Amino acid sequence: MAATNNKLVTEFGVFDVPEQQVETLSQDEKQFVKAKIKKLLKQQNAVLVAHYYVDAEIQMLADETGGVVSDSLDMARFGNEHPASTLIVAGVRFMGETAKILNPEKRILMPDINAECSLDLLCPADAFAKFRAEHPDRTAVVYANTSAEVKALSDWVVTSSIALEVAEYLKSRGEKILWAPDKHLGGYIKETTGADMLLWDGACIVHESFQSEALEALSKQYPDAVIIAHPESPRAVLELAQVVGSTSQLLDAVIKLPAEQFIVATDRGIFHKMREMAPGKLLLEAPTGGKGATCQSCAHCPWMSLNSLQKVLTCLEQGSGEIVVDEAIRKDALTPLQSMMDFGKSRNKSVAGDA
Ligand code: SF4
Repeated sequence: MAATNNKLVTEFGVFDVPEQQVETLSQDEKQFVKAKIKKLLKQQNAVLVAHYYVDAEIQMLADETGGVVSDSLDMARFGNEHPASTLIVAGVRFMGETAKILNPEKRILMPDINAECSLDLLCPADAFAKFRAEHPDRTAVVYANTSAEVKALSDWVVTSSIALEVAEYLKSRGEKILWAPDKHLGGYIKETTGADMLLWDGACIVHESFQSEALEALSKQYPDAVIIAHPESPRAVLELAQVVGSTSQLLDAVIKLPAEQFIVATDRGIFHKMREMAPGKLLLEAPTGGKGATCQSCAHCPWMSLNSLQKVLTCLEQGSGEIVVDEAIRKDALTPLQSMMDFGKSRNKSVAGDA
């Protein structure tokens, strides 16, 4: 994978990476749009489910209107348990697809259906099918950040909070793992559990841009700050971190640890929830490539930034951005998702936690 400005160059093709979007509405316009969204949510029996990485205004609106702000799987489970017939999924496409896989009877709308994920783009279903066919002796475990088609080809889907336990469980059964798509998360699991894992070569462009040398330098400036990192970050960054965990686990660390300062190596969208849940604590962004030529993310996912209040309103007004998943693929994708959820229940553990 090579990251150049606005392009993701991969062996599977060249993909456009959107410019970071910033909200341009005035305060009055925001209030006007929010009021219309609230009215339409009620009229359409709809609920807003938002990811931690989307704009803070959307997160606040989700909280205000009885929706949820969380990880992708918890978003889908919330949608599953909520009586609403329409879910507005503010996140990226695989999250909308996961919601549809688990909630086939519901209408799933996305503010911007072009919101991709580099991990998903870097793991096309046909290439993954070939990889899988070449290693028939291995159990295929894929991260939640994959398309419905890739999930349908797999034995397990995992989130970052349960991946270690699933790998340990499979290892205890003598199973060898075929892992896709995130090489950093896969490497972290492999090293931590000692499981026999063959890794796909994918990465998240946001987490991959965190720089260990600059992080070390920042840590020297703030010696009391706890470094917390998402396992999609490179190994050298994880080695510097005192806490490695999913978005929910990092949020928990900021809330529960007695430290007053944190250096955070994940998408800065989560700073909104961290500030809300742990007011007064100092949160510092882990350094990325900066504004240089190779920094596409600068600690904020360009695809997540495609979600805006105006687009939430548009999808409600026009019924646009609807997620459709082929029924045969949906059923096949449900099986590995269900395996994870059943495993989580048997361990009495939340499975939420993917990026
Ligand atoms: S932050 Fe990374 S893993 Fe998450 S949606 Fe964006 S590209 Fe994908």
